[in-house]
Amino acid sequence: MPTDDSTRSQLEYFRDLGFHDLFLESSAAAPPTLLAGSMPSLPALQKFLKGCPRCKLSRGRTNIVFGQGDPKADLMFVGEAPGHEEDVQGLAFVGRAGQLLTKIIEAIGKRRDDVYITNILKCRPPNNRNPEADEVASCMPFLEEQIRLISPKVIVTLGTFAAQAVLGTDEPIGRMRGRWRTARGVRVMPTFHPAFLLRSPDRKKDVWEDMKLVRDYLAER
Ligand code: URA
Repeated sequence: MPTDDSTRSQLEYFRDLGFHDLFLESSAAAPPTLLAGSMPSLPALQKFLKGCPRCKLSRGRTNIVFGQGDPKADLMFVGEAPGHEEDVQGLAFVGRAGQLLTKIIEAIGKRRDDVYITNILKCRPPNNRNPEADEVASCMPFLEEQIRLISPKVIVTLGTFAAQAVLGTDEPIGRMRGRWRTARGVRVMPTFHPAFLLRSPDRKKDVWEDMKLVRDYLAER
């Protein structure tokens, strides 16, 4: 066994005390830390995330939901976390909320393939519960790297958790929506989550107002 000098002298000390057996504890290697700015491309980042054990959600997931769309999109949508359908398919926003998101995207004259869609958390929380702080902290470096690589002109955050995590605030969504913010040098438009709109369709008009701001801003660029 290779030893450095201090390990050697400790082992000699215990040998001289009469200990002759050494039991080594095996521990799983900690996953490598994602260094900001280190990934050359989205596929490289996705590969780095493969099999991620960094938080407790890894134990219950079927698939990691990395995100999908145009890797050079001007417009990026960030939701909360995969639901059941997303977990099964490994794709973001493919369930009922996703179908409504498709309509929102099409309402501003774009297709899903023109934009990039992802979430704060890449693994499904059990029973779709809210993301927990340690899970957000584990997963944020991956979103940060996605934002850097895609370099969108606008990020639309969907719902409370996405807005709060991207903007680093605890303000309620009702106060944030419809107002431009900036994060990491990118314009951010917080709006309501499509799952909320399914429960409260009367708020669709608010999202339409927010999306018109996004459409007009992008049209000027
Ligand atoms: N809700 C989200 O926040 N993200 C998804 O991918 C699906 C539903």
